[in-house]
Amino acid sequence: MKLQEYRSKEILARHGVPLLAGETATTPAEARAAAERIGGAVVVKAQVLVGGRGKAGGVKLAATPAEAEARAGDILGMDIKGITVQTVLVAPAADIAKEFYLGLILDRAARAITVIASAEGGVEIEETAKTNPGAILRLPLHPLLGLQEFETRRIGFFLGIPADLRRDFATVMRGLYAAFVESDADLAEINPLVVTDDGRLLALDAKITLDDSALPRHPDLEAMRDLNEEEPSEIAAREAGISFIKLDGSIGCMVNGAGLAMTTMDLVKLAGGEPANFLDIGGGAKADRVAAAFRIILDDPNVKAILVNIFGGITRGDEVAHGIVEARSQLHREVPMVVRIVGTNSDEAKPILARANLITADSLDDAAAKAVEAAR
Ligand code: GDP
Ligand code: MN
Repeated sequence: MKLQEYRSKEILARHGVPLLAGETATTPAEARAAAERIGGAVVVKAQVLVGGRGKAGGVKLAATPAEAEARAGDILGMDIKGITVQTVLVAPAADIAKEFYLGLILDRAARAITVIASAEGGVEIEETAKTNPGAILRLPLHPLLGLQEFETRRIGFFLGIPADLRRDFATVMRGLYAAFVESDADLAEINPLVVTDDGRLLALDAKITLDDSALPRHPDLEAMRDLNEEEPSEIAAREAGISFIKLDGSIGCMVNGAGLAMTTMDLVKLAGGEPANFLDIGGGAKADRVAAAFRIILDDPNVKAILVNIFGGITRGDEVAHGIVEARSQLHREVPMVVRIVGTNSDEAKPILARANLITADSLDDAAAKAVEAAR
């Protein structure tokens, strides 16, 4: 789950990272009032979960409250990479002398939380990685020892942090690391981290991505979710307790078990089709959950056929078949449905499916081929 800049800054500030927090606004008048409270020059920033807002015109300086109102008017409602801006952050403007990039990622290949730092801040790190990879420091941290003081000094030297700001840099680095670990993040970045004309070190932009699987441990962070920017189908799936990821193909997949779901998607591809989604209905596969899964799959207009692949274990195959037939009768849209049920009571499932005119298959290869054919 990605957090908006102002939310990410809230978390960093809690861990002692120096920044100018500001206030959010959803109308130009609110932006003006915020600028009046702040006093002096402000920066008005689109709050959308995509990078490169600056380049897209979503970050603007304003010298007066009237100007802040006008800039908020420009930015609110603006489209940035397909997302409509509904909120802006109004924050005290900083005079920038130097910009840095400082980030932490969970690097699964290195099996470590890894520091990424570059003195070429402000631009996207992916860009620097292409044009000037030598300008980037990658430093994996020990999984048990965590961030060490000597490492913080090493990062500071690499970035060329001025001597009188090294203590402040240590505060930033420690705060970023603590924020990352304590919120179970898989990414936390400050870009740019700046030195101002009057010699202060400040986080001017922040981005935190949380590990979805750890969210049950953090109800306060879960509450920061921005529903405006999520796939409606993924919201519906989460509410129904279904693991679902929307993809771009035409074959809807309904499967029990994450491994089987991935295998099913692979076989759809092997048969020449493209899956429309990943969907793990979980254990039990009760009729109401099956119905919810069908609705979510069929809400995607690209879906031309559905492949149901269920392995009956504790759940009996005939119960699942009844659930599918019942759920199907309530659907708002009809597409061909290929059903493969194996395991407990799979033989009892067959006549139930056949009576309902569903396409059945014995093997997964066969099911995938039939689904691809049906989608044509
Ligand atoms: P992003 O483009 O989505 O990464 O948004 P940022 O918050 O990083 O803003 C983009 C750029 O706008 C930064 O790299 C800065 O150069 C500039 N910027 C942001 N805030 C301020 C500010 O307070 N003062 C000045 N002078 N520039 C700012
Ligand atoms: Mn940025």
